[in-house]
Amino acid sequence: MPFELDNLVRENIRRLVPYSSARSEFSGDARIFMDANENSFGSPTCQDHSRYPDPFQKEIKSCVAELNGISPSQVFVGNGSDEAIDLLFRIFCRPSVDNVIICPPTYGMYEVLASINDVALEKVFLTRDFDLDVPAILAAIDQNTKIIFLCSPNNPTGNLVSRNAILEIAGTFEGIVVVDEAYVHFSTQPSLTKEIGSNPNLVVLQTFSKAWGLAGLRVGLAFGDAKIIELFDRVKPPYNLSDSAQSEVLSAFINEHHVVKSIREIRKEREILAEKIKKFEFVTTVYPSDANFMLVKTIDADAVYLSLLDNGIVVRNRSRVPLCEGCVRITVGTPDENTALLNALEQYEKSSVH
Ligand SMILES: *Cc1c(COP(=O)(O)O)cnc(C)c1O
Repeated sequence: MPFELDNLVRENIRRLVPYSSARSEFSGDARIFMDANENSFGSPTCQDHSRYPDPFQKEIKSCVAELNGISPSQVFVGNGSDEAIDLLFRIFCRPSVDNVIICPPTYGMYEVLASINDVALEKVFLTRDFDLDVPAILAAIDQNTKIIFLCSPNNPTGNLVSRNAILEIAGTFEGIVVVDEAYVHFSTQPSLTKEIGSNPNLVVLQTFSKAWGLAGLRVGLAFGDAKIIELFDRVKPPYNLSDSAQSEVLSAFINEHHVVKSIREIRKEREILAEKIKKFEFVTTVYPSDANFMLVKTIDADAVYLSLLDNGIVVRNRSRVPLCEGCVRITVGTPDENTALLNALEQYEKSSVH
């Protein structure tokens, strides 16, 4: 049976009559707007925010589409990519009937959002070198499996998963295959965005929170077939992105060179940091990273974590995550921050030797 979007979408979503906001019913030029119950006397802030924002973020979509060589109809803009993940559950998964597959160790929000939406979760663990176990993934699919979540570069392991494996899964599975590319800008491999044209069931997630340095704005992206994107836009809250978030993102595009430069520096720092961290005796493995963080296996993650905290440095203790025993996840910082981290680790090494 080939991929049939209509058969995958929940009945209530297929029949949904979306909320029609004032700004979606009329978005042209007019002299006086008396259609949305806004306060025409303005807002009590320096910037005026008295008007509702564009519900479909047309300017952002057009910039993003151009940057990625796709059509604006293939772009969804969300309140963080977490919103896109939540919408995927709500569009495709019938609570307490359907299930999704994830490949741990991976990003925690897939499981949390599955629980919130009362959707069962099948876990197919990554292999020992943190790649996809394709036969096990395909074997885990049943008739109620709606979505497979893949993450590349993967969080918290930092590595890219095999592109061929992703495309094999997308070509075989009759449901939705999501590839979370939150960290793709730090990797040397191209995005899978180019593949959405030939894979109507592929959804690629990206975000402004990591390489773009805009985590506080809460803006994420989903790329996919226009029919899937249309579903996102029907189900999302009408004004899911504030006017400030929209205008800040638009101003970020003008300074893209700043992003390109910081990515280059972060990659360079990542390699320097990895080499230095490898030399500590309490470190058993620094896993190769295509992201802006690295997973570091130590002989006592709790002790490392607490010792860094004593120095005012917070890393992520992942030692209780299956397959990440003994591991902390460290985000690459500025050269000064990385030096502070290395000094604190050296101090820990000295104090823990005897
Ligand atoms: C950080 C991160 C996100 C980003 O989520 P936003 O809601 O866009 O901030 C998504 N996926 C993964 C794997 C992440 O690590």
